[in-house]
Order: sequence, then structure tokens, then C-alpha cells
Amino acid sequence: MTTSLQTAFDRYFLTNSKESLKEYQSVMNQAMETLKSVVLEQTPFSGAKPQLIKKTLQSHFPNVHPDEAMNSELLFQRLKAAVGKHSISVHHPSCAAHLHCPPMVPGLAAEVLISGLNVSMDSWDQSGAATMVEQIMMDGLCRLFGLPEGDGVMTSGGTQSNLMGLMLAREHACMKLWNWDVKKQGLPPEQHRLKILCSDAAHFSVQQSAAVLGLGEDAVVPVKTNHAHKMCMKDLVEKLQEMRTAGEYPFVLFATAGTTDFGAIDPLMEMSRATKKYGLWFHVDAAYGGGLIMTELHKHKLNGIEEADSITVDFHKMFYQPISCGAFLVKERSSFAYMKRHADYLNPEEDDVPNLVGKSLQTTRRFDALKPFLSFQLIGKNEWSDIICRTLYLAKEAYSMLKSDGAFTPVHEPELSTVVFRYTGEGRFSNETEDFLNSRIRDRLLNDGEAVIARTKVNNRVCLKFTLLNPLLKTNHLMHLLQRIKEIGRYESGRLKDEQNRS
Ligand SMILES: *Cc1c(COP(=O)(O)O)cnc(C)c1O
Repeated sequence: MTTSLQTAFDRYFLTNSKESLKEYQSVMNQAMETLKSVVLEQTPFSGAKPQLIKKTLQSHFPNVHPDEAMNSELLFQRLKAAVGKHSISVHHPSCAAHLHCPPMVPGLAAEVLISGLNVSMDSWDQSGAATMVEQIMMDGLCRLFGLPEGDGVMTSGGTQSNLMGLMLAREHACMKLWNWDVKKQGLPPEQHRLKILCSDAAHFSVQQSAAVLGLGEDAVVPVKTNHAHKMCMKDLVEKLQEMRTAGEYPFVLFATAGTTDFGAIDPLMEMSRATKKYGLWFHVDAAYGGGLIMTELHKHKLNGIEEADSITVDFHKMFYQPISCGAFLVKERSSFAYMKRHADYLNPEEDDVPNLVGKSLQTTRRFDALKPFLSFQLIGKNEWSDIICRTLYLAKEAYSMLKSDGAFTPVHEPELSTVVFRYTGEGRFSNETEDFLNSRIRDRLLNDGEAVIARTKVNNRVCLKFTLLNPLLKTNHLMHLLQRIKEIGRYESGRLKDEQNRS
């Protein structure tokens, strides 16, 4: 290899050569500056339409794999103009649509180490210390959630954790009922009689998992929710008895601790009692509400979670970690045996070191555990509690503002940090007009880049939703946002009236 080629290569890989370290520092700085400019921009969104963004990208990057390398300064300038400028800025307080948090700085620092170390969590000989960090992180998390004999593994998020919970529940049930090993034998002959119970407000990943697990979406039996959007126990018991009579095998009760729309927490205690009585696996999807465990003020809302056979926790929601960062916990370590498999080239049975691949659906896997690990070290428990309590308090504040303003009808009293409401103006609109106005308000805020809020349907009527996951949001932000919603509502209803008068 020529010296010049060697020097060039040195710059592309991280080594201990001076050139490499200099290049690393320089490129990382440029990336940081690009990010800073996006954050400093302080608008939730540019409002650009998909087609315009595509055109902008095509003009800045006419060739996806150019023959000649681009100068890095120019590259970052273009990234700033084409990507940074048109990204949803989750750092902005008026970005309040989804369960999508502003990432905290310790998590961002961890990302630098995670990608730079580039260890992989599947086998000990690809990770070393990282495996131990993940394991002690999981042990700590199990203690936090009251599972002293438990175990866990990091996942890509709630979707994967829910799939794992339902999969282990299925394997466990088939073994218990028919001594049937699904891992080896596939689905049992009675497969169409296996049923999953969850509330009608559970996350859509339950249906998705049922499909992936070969049970089909029809295996999911939705239980009614009550006035507070929590699982109705009376309906649950009726459904369980009906299923028994029909010769069906409900095998898992899937609880949600924090539903996507209303942040409702199912009655975990009562549900856990039902699982014992009817011999069901108890899974708790705490993707959203799991953060409450960090607060003295609110953690009682999760009472009963310690009875779960498995739990879903998302760190990229109320734990403010960069995506992706989730965890799956089980009450009994041995539950992971249902999914364990061996590969001679990866984790042979005679290995006496921890190989985490046996607990995961992934093989090559990121060292995401470092994000919560670093964040728990750098932020004390009291401060965690303050951050999460503040996040929940904001929803209470938004709710009381909505309630005292005649132009709005709040749809529920917030339990976590979502607030669902409807713009009703002076109350003289038809339901359809209100639907139209609420949709318009959300679209205009997004298209003007003013705010990103969500739209959802409650009883088939269009509603607006704030998902407040930014503890830095201020009361005056909320006031301003509500003011703007009213202004847009008034303007749009005026336009509508003009149009009707003309026709
Ligand atoms: C977000 C969420 C999920 C899905 O989690 P991902 O991390 O997006 O995969 C599942 N259940 C609930 C209740 C959620 O809030």
C-alpha cells in the first residue's frame, strides 16, 4: 500500500494514529455544530411538504454514491440545509404530539461511546464489560419494579418487548396445557382456541404480535374500557367466563400502564388477581407509564406491577433517552429458556461466559444499556423524580386551562402526561364542523411549522392531543399554544361560514 493511501485510510477509521484522532475530532465537531444549529433554530418544524423536502435533498445530493468524495464542511452545510432545517425538532417545547421525548444530555454522551466502541451484545467475545453493564442494569431495573428473582434484556422498544412477552406467554401456556414445545413443534392443534386478552385501548403491537406469532389478530379479545379508559373488570370476568364455556384457552392478560391516547393505567392489582384465579400469564406494558417508578409521588399508580410475569419498559419515552432504548423484564429468570438457542459459532453450550444472545430476538445488538446506565449515574433519584413529576404536572396544568376556557372541551382528566381535548368554539357548530375544525387546526400548526400536536379519534369524533414529554415546557408556552389554537379555530370557522353564505 502506498503511503498516501495509508494516510487516507487512517482518516476513515478510528485508530491511535494522530491523523485518525484529528479527523475523528473534526468530523464529530462538525456533526455537533450541525445539531446545535438545529436546536438553536428553535422552530418545531419547517412545515415543508414531503415533495419539497425530496426536491431539496435531490438538489443538495444529486448522487447518492458519488465518484468523488465531498468536502466535509460542504457536506455538513448541506446536511444542515436539507436535513436539519426540515427535521421535526423534538427539543422544542411546542413539539408535543407523540410519545417522543427530548433526549437528555447523558444519553447523548452515551451514544458517542456506544457507536464508537461498537461492541455487540450477542456474545461475550464481542462485548466484554458491556454485557456486564447490561446485566447489572437489568438486575437493578428488576429490583426497581419489584421482581427480585427477575431478569431482563434491552430491546429496540415497546413493540419488541410486547412481542417477547406474548411469545413467552404462548410458549408457557402450550407447555403447561399440552406439554407442547412450540419452539420445536410449531403451533399446537388447538392453536385457534388460544386467546389474548387486553383492553380496547391497548397498543396496536398486541395485534401485530398475535399476527407474527401465528395466532392471528382474531386471537386478540378486546375488553371494554370504563369511563376512565381503564380495563373494565366486570367485562373482563364476563369475557373469561364466556371463553371457558366456549372451550377457548385465554392464556395471557395484557395490561397497559399508560395508554397511548389517555395515559390510562389499567387496574393492575385486580388484574393480577384475575390472572391467578384463571391461570393466565400477566404481562404489563409499561412502555409509557414505567417512568413513574422513579417518583415517590406517583409510583403507587403502578402498584401490582410486581405481580407481572413480564414487563415492557421504554427508556425512549418517560426516561428521556435517545431512540432506540427499551427493556423487557421477566419475573422468573427461567422464562428465557423458552427462547434460548445455541449456535456453535456464537454461544456454544459449553461456554461458561454470559452470552446475552439467548435472551434476545436480535443477534447483533447495540449497547443501548449504557444510555440509562449513564443517565442514572449522572442524575440523582430525587432529580429524576422532579423531572417526571414536572412532566405530569404540565398535563394537569393544561387540563385546568382547557377546562376553564369555554372554547375547549377536555375529553378526560389526565393520569400521565397526555391531554385529549376538542376545540368547540362557541359551541354552535355541528359535530362534523367541529371534526373539520379540529383537523384543520392540527394541520395548520404543522404546515406553518408552529407546533406539532396530535390528532386522534374518540368515539369517532376528531380530537386534539398534547403528549407532554418535555419538562422544560413553560406555562406561557401552553397558554400561547391554546391561544393560537383558538385563533386558528376562529379564522377557519369564519372562512367556513363565508363559503356557506356564498353557495
Ligand atoms: C410506545 C408504546 C409501544 C410501542 O413501543 P415502541 O418503543 O414504539 O416500539 C407499546 N405500548 C405502549 C403503551 C406504548 O406507549
